[in-house]
Amino acid sequence: DQLISQIAAGEVVERPASALKELLENSLDAGSTDITVTLLNGGVKQLRVADNGTGVAKDDLALALTRHATSKIATLDDLEAVASLGFRGEALASIASVSRTQIISRYQDDHHAWRIESEGSAISAIEPAALGIGTIVEVHDLYFNTPARRKFLKTEGTEFGHCEEAFRRVALSRPDVAFMLQHNGRALARLNIADPQKRFGEILGAEFSAESFALDESAAGLRLWGMAAKPTFSRNARDTQYVYVNGRFVRDKLISHAIRQAYQDVLHHDRHPAFVLFLELDTSLVDVNVHPSKTEVRFRDGQAVHRFVFHALHKALATPTG
Ligand code: ADP
Ligand code: MG
Repeated sequence: DQLISQIAAGEVVERPASALKELLENSLDAGSTDITVTLLNGGVKQLRVADNGTGVAKDDLALALTRHATSKIATLDDLEAVASLGFRGEALASIASVSRTQIISRYQDDHHAWRIESEGSAISAIEPAALGIGTIVEVHDLYFNTPARRKFLKTEGTEFGHCEEAFRRVALSRPDVAFMLQHNGRALARLNIADPQKRFGEILGAEFSAESFALDESAAGLRLWGMAAKPTFSRNARDTQYVYVNGRFVRDKLISHAIRQAYQDVLHHDRHPAFVLFLELDTSLVDVNVHPSKTEVRFRDGQAVHRFVFHALHKALATPTG
């Protein structure tokens, strides 16, 4: 069973950044409005996520570290309409199986918190602990028991860069949540709850804010909103391209193609534009259940999505409002 966990871990926990993404999604699933990420050595030595969410009940703490059918899906209908980002019930178990993990959590109105620790497959007894609110998940020494995987890790700087990008993707999509990021004792980001445009600017910089425009177009149950570079924006910005489908970061060829076509039509050149765009559509029209740790989606009607994204962006680019 430990071997199975470690193999599964290889898929879920490709690198520290993938573990961080899972921890952040759990905090968001728990309704947190304030999340602090503290990393050491690119996340390899420590990934710590502290939140102010609902917490984990004492009786569920051990379960949280064990592979299980997630409590977040009760029926098949839920599975189809899965609104919460995490839905496998194995992320934390996979992370724990290749690290030394500690969870401290105070469940809703409990009088105090509880702590549980694990080292690989060994899980400790549950002990009382002190914590005002929410949950702290601390992951130490990732891959300490799987040296073969550890060898695949890149430099501290590279792994931190991936963690920072995972943090950025989540923070861009949740301006209604405050975030902090620390690495090796240095505070790198402090993001207060803000309106989306302010949050985008804080993460992507003043130049992006100044050189982009807001859009919000809807048609036939589809909505595209966010900010995109004005046609005059000259920076080649392949690294500033964020697309979300129903709140989830995706890399989707179809959407990218529609965006590129809309820009090419207006720009007549092939620079990579900058944008943060959110596509929203009925959950029955998109299959998010492809592979949770991947960034793919499958649309029921890809052509309709392509047409909509192209026209929505094209219209906005042709008549920028400022
Ligand atoms: P999933 O998110 O798919 O249910 P995970 O392995 O990611 O599975 O998490 C296991 C469980 O641990 C969650 O279902 C949740 O009950 C609990 N949990 C994990 N992190 C948190 C958190 N930050 N706040 C509250 N509960 C959490
Ligand atoms: Mg999860």
